[in-house]
Amino acid sequence: ERPDPLVLLDAEVTVPLVTGDTVGYANFDYAASAPCATAAADAINDLLPRYASVHRGAGLPSQLCTRRYEEARGSVARFLGCRPDDTVLFTRNTTDATNLLAHVLPADATVVVFDSEHHATLLPWRRAVRLPVPDSPGAAVRAVDAALRELHRDGPAGPVLVAVTGASNVTGELWPVGNIVTVAHRYGARVFVDAAQLAPHRPVDVAALDVDYVALSGHKLYAPFGAGVLAGRPDWLAAAGPYLAGGGATALVGDATNDVRWSAGAARHEAGSPNVLGAVALGAVCDALLAADRAALADRERRLTDRLRAGLAAIDGVVELSLFAPDSPRVGIAAFAVRGLDSDVLAAALSAEYGIGVRDGLFCAHPLTRRLLHDAGTDAPATAVRASIGLGTTEEQVDRLVAAVAELAANGPRWTYERPEGRPVP
Ligand code: PMP
Repeated sequence: ERPDPLVLLDAEVTVPLVTGDTVGYANFDYAASAPCATAAADAINDLLPRYASVHRGAGLPSQLCTRRYEEARGSVARFLGCRPDDTVLFTRNTTDATNLLAHVLPADATVVVFDSEHHATLLPWRRAVRLPVPDSPGAAVRAVDAALRELHRDGPAGPVLVAVTGASNVTGELWPVGNIVTVAHRYGARVFVDAAQLAPHRPVDVAALDVDYVALSGHKLYAPFGAGVLAGRPDWLAAAGPYLAGGGATALVGDATNDVRWSAGAARHEAGSPNVLGAVALGAVCDALLAADRAALADRERRLTDRLRAGLAAIDGVVELSLFAPDSPRVGIAAFAVRGLDSDVLAAALSAEYGIGVRDGLFCAHPLTRRLLHDAGTDAPATAVRASIGLGTTEEQVDRLVAAVAELAANGPRWTYERPEGRPVP
C-alpha cells in the first residue's frame, strides 16, 4: 500500500518480553524520532563509497557530493513549497534551526510565543512576549491579534516575529497557522512555523500559507539524526553575522584581526563541513513523500488515530490530554494519563510486558503538559504517556496498545519497575 521508498527499515524488529516470549516491536514513538525510510538508506548507501568534502574539493567525489548536497536543498525547498528567493539552510535539527533564527533576528525584535510551545520554540529568544495556552484555535488567533495590537499601541513596534507550532508535539492538534499569518501580516509581523511534527504528517506549503520561516527535523521525517532545516525570507539571514564563524561562511579573510567578509546566501550560516549524508538522506525522503499520495497517507493515519483515541477513551481511568475540542483536527499523536498509575511505570510496563514503545514525561513542553495534566484532574499522575503514529503503524499494533493499556489500567503492572532517582523529566 505504501510506495517502496517509504517502507521503513524497522519493519521486522522483534523484542524479548519479561515473560520470556518474543514479539514484533510496536513503535508508538514516531513523534520523538521516526525509523529510517528506504529512500534515506538508499541515498546514503549510494553516496557512502564516494563521499568527500562539499564546496571545497576539486576531485570528482567532491563535485558529486556538492551537487547532491545542493540538490537536496532543492528537494527540501520543493517539499516545503518555498518561494524562489527563500533561503534553505541545513541545520542539525529543529532546535538548531530556532536558535539560528534567534541569532539572526534584528536586535530590537520581539518574539510572540505561546506557553504551549515545545522548548525549542519557547526558549531561544532574547525578548519574548509569552501568551497563555489558548483553549481553541480561534482563541489562539485572537490572542495573537491582541498581543500585536498591544505591541503597536505606542506607535510602530520594532520587528515582531510570531513563533508557533504547526502541530503540537503533545496533543497532535493542528494550529491555525494560516489565520495567524493573516493577522500577523496585518501588523507587519512575521511568522515562524515549527513544522517538526506537522511536516511528517501533512503537506506544508510555505508560499501558499505565506509563512515567513519554517523549521523541521530530519530524524522525525524518516531520515537519520543530525540534519534539519530552517527555510524562509532571506533578508534577516543576509543582514546578520554568521551563526557559526569559520570556514565556508567566509568570502574573504584579511590579515588584520576582524577583517572578514562573510559569504552571502546559505553558506553564511553553514560554516564548517556539513552533514552531507544527512542532508542527502533528508532530501531523498522529501522527494519520496512528494511523489507519494499524501492525502491517502493522511487518511490512513486519521483512521488509525481515531481508532487509537476511541480505544483509549473507552478504558476506565484513562484521560486524554487535549488543548482544543476533542474533534479538532490533529496528526497521529495521543497523550494520556491513567488515573492512579505513574506514567513512567505505565511506559516501562508497555515495553517490558507488551513490546510497545511509547514516550513518557512532559515532552519538552513542560508548561503545556503540566497545565493539561492539571486540567485533567488532581488524581492524574504528574507526567503523561504519548503514543504517536507513523508510516509503519498498523491496526494490529493500535489494538495491541489499547488492549495493553486496558489491562494495565485494570490490574496494574505484573512486575515492579525501578524508578531512576533524580532523573530529570524530559
Ligand atoms: N518542535 C517540536 C514541535 C518537536 O516535537 C520537537 C521534537 N520533540 C522539536 C521542536 C525539537 O526537535 P529536535 O529535537 O529535533 O531539535
